[in-house]
Amino acid sequence: MADADPDNGRVRGGRSIRFRLLAIALLPTLVILPLLLFVTMARWETKFDALLISKVNGDLTIAHQYLSRILENTGEHLNALTGSIAFQDAVTRDGDTALPAYLEDNRKRLGLDFLLLVDRTGKVIAPPQPQGGRSIRPDWPVLVSAFAGEAKTAIDIFSNAELQAISPDLAARARLELVPTPNAVATDRSTETRGMVVHSASPVLVAGFGEAALVGGILLNQNLVFIDTINDLVYREASLPEGSQGTATLFLDDVRVSTNVRLFEGKRALGTRVSAAVRSRVLGEGRVWLDSAFVVNDWYVSAYEPISDSFGKRVGMLYVGFLEAPFSRAKTETIIGILVAFLVVTIASVPIFLRWARAIFKPLERMTSTITKVEAGDLGARSGLQDASDEIGRVAFHLDSLLDQLQQRDRELRRWNDELNDRVAERTHELELANRQLEATTKQLIMSEKLAAIGEITAGVAHEINNPIAVMQGNLDVVRSVLGDRADDLTTELRLIDEQIHRVNQIVTKLLQFAKPEEYAGYVERTMAANVISDCLPLVQHLLNKSEIAVEREDRATRLVLMNRTELQQVLVNLIVNAIHAMPGGGTLRLTSADEELGERVGIGIHVTDTGIGMTEDVLSRIFDPFFTTKQCEGTGLGLSISQTLITRQGGTLKAESVPGKGTRFSIWLPEAN
Ligand code: ADP
Ligand code: MG
Repeated sequence: MADADPDNGRVRGGRSIRFRLLAIALLPTLVILPLLLFVTMARWETKFDALLISKVNGDLTIAHQYLSRILENTGEHLNALTGSIAFQDAVTRDGDTALPAYLEDNRKRLGLDFLLLVDRTGKVIAPPQPQGGRSIRPDWPVLVSAFAGEAKTAIDIFSNAELQAISPDLAARARLELVPTPNAVATDRSTETRGMVVHSASPVLVAGFGEAALVGGILLNQNLVFIDTINDLVYREASLPEGSQGTATLFLDDVRVSTNVRLFEGKRALGTRVSAAVRSRVLGEGRVWLDSAFVVNDWYVSAYEPISDSFGKRVGMLYVGFLEAPFSRAKTETIIGILVAFLVVTIASVPIFLRWARAIFKPLERMTSTITKVEAGDLGARSGLQDASDEIGRVAFHLDSLLDQLQQRDRELRRWNDELNDRVAERTHELELANRQLEATTKQLIMSEKLAAIGEITAGVAHEINNPIAVMQGNLDVVRSVLGDRADDLTTELRLIDEQIHRVNQIVTKLLQFAKPEEYAGYVERTMAANVISDCLPLVQHLLNKSEIAVEREDRATRLVLMNRTELQQVLVNLIVNAIHAMPGGGTLRLTSADEELGERVGIGIHVTDTGIGMTEDVLSRIFDPFFTTKQCEGTGLGLSISQTLITRQGGTLKAESVPGKGTRFSIWLPEAN
């Protein structure tokens, strides 16, 4: 029964149904679902971020188009102007008065910062200079192109002196104090004096003067109209979630020269610089930056693109972006919301799953523990599941009924066992009885055998003695007749011989009588107990005298018994001699007879009582056995055995009672003769 491990259900927990069920119930909720949730959220977050990036990319495209539009517009406007009759008219009509007014009007109308007519050397022809004389670098590619006959527009960086040469106002507007910015590339400059200019040149043929070019431009530094327009365009009202804010910036090199990013208290972050990472990527490598970036003082989802001048050199950047915080807040809120929802669902559902799992493994565990108990010997153990609606319940019910049957069988087996035991005990008892009977019979058989053997021997010896005795008797008679009268002198001696021969005869007869009692038992006579006792005493007188034993007698028996007188005498002599042997230092021998009943039977009792050494229980139990004697050399151990045989043959009993050290009483009971 190697499988009957009582801890089956618990110790090998990893494999027990309880843990497997719990795993089945909880794995989806606690492991798979969170994993799925995590993967989904990670994907969603990436998508969300990509969406933000693509939005800001779109924003940058709009800003870029706006900038291109300004460039195009400036060129187109100048071309339109130079090609207009009004312009030709103004130039030809009056070079000194009409033209400056016309140019000033159109400058204002077109929203330009300057509008000049220059000659091939860059010297300004109109409007007229207040003092000194204004000029433009003649080698600007736009100007070179214009004098080559083709109008051109570009963004270029003007040094402060060049701006100064056009207009002191512009030079002043371009000047910016640099604000120290964390994360920016270190610099030892403290001001930015250059200006980023959109300028356009268109060829003009002036009557009476020759070739010239009309140059118009816009300074982008601190051009808040420009930047706010971009911002309004890109981030129209409600295009961003609440709390987010759209920003747009124009960089000259890495310095914010025009921006709506606020530094603090509404002050624009002019003069601050871009971070080193963005700078190296956009200005250094000429690539577009689309990512989250730290702008001035907060994180923005940002897009930067490089701006090149007419020489193809990267001189600045255009930036748009929006505050990331509201988006990330929305993202975090969403994630937290999902997590909370998941937690709530888990907390609500796990107990339900556990309850279901319990409903399965509990009964199984109950059954296992029931089986364990039964195996440990408690046959009365039951799983006792009441609800047998499902399979497990039915199995439990089945188990219980099987156990009922088992218990019933066990009970029957035990009962059979008990019965069998009883029967075995009974048989054993019977066997013991039979054994004892066999023993007793064997004893009797042995005794009879022994007695028979002794009888044979004695008979032989007696016959052998009889013959010499007969010879002696015959010869004594011969002696008497030969002596005649002389025999009178020897009367005493002869009488003595006669007597002794008679005695030997008697002894031999007695011996024969003992050896073959049945041959002599033929004549039973009515005998008086008291007389027999009286006959016995002379036979033992010499023994009585030796030991100084007093004899007491009480003869009250009136009934006669039917027994051979000699036999009764033999019995009594045996008893008396034994009593005398028991009292070596003297004592009292009491001989009584009385009428007695044994049960319903009428008879007499003869009692021989001594005050001798008595007998132990052990000796007492064996005294009637033939050859049992305590008198090593003297005794034969036959006396009591023969006596009992003689008495029982007459239908009587011989019994003994004894107290060691006090004395012994032998009792003969014989039925009355009728
Ligand atoms: P024996 O006299 O030859 O020993 P018995 O058969 O006459 O054989 O007696 C058996 C034994 O019983 C005796 O040896 C003796 O020990 C015991 N016994 C018999 N009578 C008495 C008595 N009156 N008192 C004590 N012991 C006795
Ligand atoms: Mg004896």
